[in-house]
Amino acid sequence: MTVVLIFLAALWILGRVLRAPVRQRVVAMAAVWLASGLALAILPVDTGLRQALGGDLRVWAAVSVLGLLGAGYFVALQRLRGKAPTASPPVTSGKFSPEELDRYARHIMLREIGGPGQKALKAAKVLVIGAGGLGSPALLYLAAAGVGVIGVMDADTVDASNLQRQIIHKDQGIGLPKVQSAQEAMKALNPHVEVRPYQRRFDAETAPVLEEYDLILDGSDNFDTRYLVNREAARAGKPLISAAITQWEGQISLYDSAHGTPCYECIFPERPAPGLVPTCAEAGVAAPLPGVIGAMMAMEAVKHLTGAGLTLRGRLLIHDALYAETRVIALTKREDCAVCGVKH
Ligand SMILES: [Zn+2]
Repeated sequence: MTVVLIFLAALWILGRVLRAPVRQRVVAMAAVWLASGLALAILPVDTGLRQALGGDLRVWAAVSVLGLLGAGYFVALQRLRGKAPTASPPVTSGKFSPEELDRYARHIMLREIGGPGQKALKAAKVLVIGAGGLGSPALLYLAAAGVGVIGVMDADTVDASNLQRQIIHKDQGIGLPKVQSAQEAMKALNPHVEVRPYQRRFDAETAPVLEEYDLILDGSDNFDTRYLVNREAARAGKPLISAAITQWEGQISLYDSAHGTPCYECIFPERPAPGLVPTCAEAGVAAPLPGVIGAMMAMEAVKHLTGAGLTLRGRLLIHDALYAETRVIALTKREDCAVCGVKH
């Protein structure tokens, strides 16, 4: 009998090494066990094989009963575990799966972020307006960082001329809606985040979507949208990380007028005359510049959401890539601001 049991154990281990499914291994072991019982039942008492098997059918039957009881207990346990709530998919649950803990380990070990910070990122909802040059790195880093819900709004489709800097999109994606292309890239990078695509322009009609988010990132490429996003974000009381680039220079700040900081219009009260400030399409832009500023947008978002460090609240960062210079200037609220001032 012992010989058979050792053989069965060896069979189980071999199956495990060969990565055979559990069901196959159990069937093979049951077949061997039944064959040994059959041999005990039909072979004459004095045959060598029967002697080797232990000789007694009653012992075989007793071991069979014990084995069945053990198997029944194991199956019942598995069923109970199957009914318990599973850790994945973890998009809406507050707990991290082992895979997520491994994925975010380098964040969790940072003193300023840690487990609570990573949880805050998972619980956060961030809307990014514009899936272009600034939106590309911002969206990718928000997804990689584990921001739970990421909204992306853009009405355009991917064009070949975008690919010089809009790194979230691919050559095969030319012609696709940018929000779809961006969604695919983010989900490919991190399937644990939820992406909500809006293939629309940001305008008075779509503005109420801000209410669903905790933080807004504006990487749009025109003044009309930038001023409107600022106005609507201020009205909704949502913090706004707004950035802009042209040619070799970029700027970024965190506007949160509901909590005492200036808003975009406090700093730039006069909208430039149409055609005065050329767009990227008219003036050109260095490929990595939106990468630098867009990644800063994601960095500021992570800091804002986790409470780490000192954000760009009330400060404007200006980066001159051509001369590799970066300046940060303090901003002040304008009391007569048309958006957030008290005297307008
Ligand atoms: Zn203002």
